[in-house]
Amino acid sequence: MDSILVILGGSGSKIRNLEDREKYLGESLESGFVELKEGEEALNAVIKSVIVMEDAPCFNAGTGSVPNLEGVVEMDASIMRSDGLFGAVAAMKDVKNPVKVARDVAEETESLLLAGEGATRFARLMGHKEYSPLTGKMRKLYSKKEESSYYKGLGKMRRLYSLETVGAVALDRFGGMASAISTGGIMFHLPGRVGDTPIIGGGIYASELGAIAVTGHGEAIMRHVVAKTAHDFLIERDAEYTAEKVIKEIDADFGIIIIDRDGKVGIAYNTKYMSWGIKTMTYKKVQAA
Ligand code: ASP
Repeated sequence: MDSILVILGGSGSKIRNLEDREKYLGESLESGFVELKEGEEALNAVIKSVIVMEDAPCFNAGTGSVPNLEGVVEMDASIMRSDGLFGAVAAMKDVKNPVKVARDVAEETESLLLAGEGATRFARLMGHKEYSPLTGKMRKLYSKKEESSYYKGLGKMRRLYSLETVGAVALDRFGGMASAISTGGIMFHLPGRVGDTPIIGGGIYASELGAIAVTGHGEAIMRHVVAKTAHDFLIERDAEYTAEKVIKEIDADFGIIIIDRDGKVGIAYNTKYMSWGIKTMTYKKVQAA
């Protein structure tokens, strides 16, 4: 079976540094695909890909995450494998790579989702060092908010900088599939707010039918259980049809990437932009937006 990796670099920011995006999307694809090429499982590939994007400050995940209303970064991330393995963290602070902690939750605990203080404490226990993901750029934006007439500036900045969640889905040569996804959430969100990213069936899903990752307006994505809804179409249809179908039928601002068991790919969005990339043994494409 041919290995395939598809990545997602968010769906909404109007302030776009296309050069950086393109560079890191390319690196993310390379880094994840090496795993698949070497015969590693899909889960390793998607995590590797997401780590590159978490470390790149031009995406809203890990380093570069948007701050909440109090100027603090709280991050959500999750991983899921086609055999049902799932792990997630929510509203977690001061960690460099939330997606790695999500994997630890899946592999080292009997829980599925750890949140807040507990998630951060668990991360330390697993050896993830204290790290501030708040960049100078985000700190400046936050202080601008303080200066602006508060609520007036808020909506505008939220529209400018939100929705840059990163994610990946992969199919490995053994037919295994996996999804991973990571975000700082929506700009200036309420402290403790958790979006769709760590919610099983919301922003992520994987089974033997396919692997799915979603970006966009988290509240609407959760309400419509977008990833699981898309998954259920895969019982009868392929990834391409499914991606188009859910984008058309679900009333939410979002973008979606899907790989199905036959190696078909679906990429669709109803937001103005979406950054994505795809790599196989013989093909590579990066769409920075
Ligand atoms: N879905 C994310 C959230 O609502 C945001 C994003 O996709 O960028 O937390």
